[in-house]
Amino acid sequence: MKWFQETLYEHHAQALSIGAVLHQGRTAFQDVLIFENALFGKVLVLDGVVQLTERDNHIYHEMIAHVPLMAHGAARDVLIIGGGDGGTLKEVLKHPVERAVMVEIDGEVIALSRRHLPAVSDGAFDDPRASVLVMDGTRYIAETGDKFDVIIIDSTDPQGPGEPLFTPAFYAACRARLRPGGMIAVQSGAPFFQPEELETVCGRLSGSFAGVRPFLAPVPTYAGGMLALVAAGDSRDALRPPREVLQARFQPLEGRTRYYTPEVHRAAFTLAPSFEPAFLREDPASEGLLKTGS
Ligand code: SAM
Repeated sequence: MKWFQETLYEHHAQALSIGAVLHQGRTAFQDVLIFENALFGKVLVLDGVVQLTERDNHIYHEMIAHVPLMAHGAARDVLIIGGGDGGTLKEVLKHPVERAVMVEIDGEVIALSRRHLPAVSDGAFDDPRASVLVMDGTRYIAETGDKFDVIIIDSTDPQGPGEPLFTPAFYAACRARLRPGGMIAVQSGAPFFQPEELETVCGRLSGSFAGVRPFLAPVPTYAGGMLALVAAGDSRDALRPPREVLQARFQPLEGRTRYYTPEVHRAAFTLAPSFEPAFLREDPASEGLLKTGS
């Protein structure tokens, strides 16, 4: 049997057996591998790092999309940076939004995902509310005059083309493109193996947003167990509304999510003390992660 081995951390690897290779090549930006695995279905790998599998991608996509959209509650215009597989776009379009703009640097990731992983986007690219632009997200943010209610950074890790999407300047530029009450959600690695990445992302976001709050999603094929995501907006409490508020907003999504629920939304913001970014724990001005709010 042939195996794909991902080595993200020293002295640790995860391996997935390869049933059939559907695509292997290099785009202008990154190496792309798409293969079949008997347990997880089709697997998309960029630069040697698993991006998604058919079996568990819904956990990541539902959490990165529905947490900020449900916390906002009335988003009309949504921006996705990255996300070439279309999974986040699909989840965003489950909300009654007027427009979802997706800005992906690598058009080949979009084309290959549409061809080999159609279930991930499930028609989202053809939705009349979707506009897809192939360009660098940092350039788009710097040049657009448009305003958004929610911005989702569905990026690769902070190496290669994804690196500028993790800078304080990029977060400040995103803040400037948000309407009052706007929110952002970003992915921030596996806190068990990469506590410093979560610390850095939260610290940088707090330079532009008054409320910054990490939340967790368990994605089996992201090595390290729990994936950290970070939501930010005008206040920490706004990111985790009371259960009754989330329940009322959940109606249009009822029966259309497999992982996200209002209860999961609220629970995801409870981090074990060892996962909490130190600056949020120690800053006396912050509400403190242990104080979970309303
Ligand atoms: N959900 C998966 C995950 O988090 O691992 C997949 C994320 S999606 C495939 C990440 C996308 O971000 C890639 O297709 C990559 O091309 C895109 N990307 C990386 N840097 C970018 C940039 N500067 N501007 C726009 N898109 C970018």
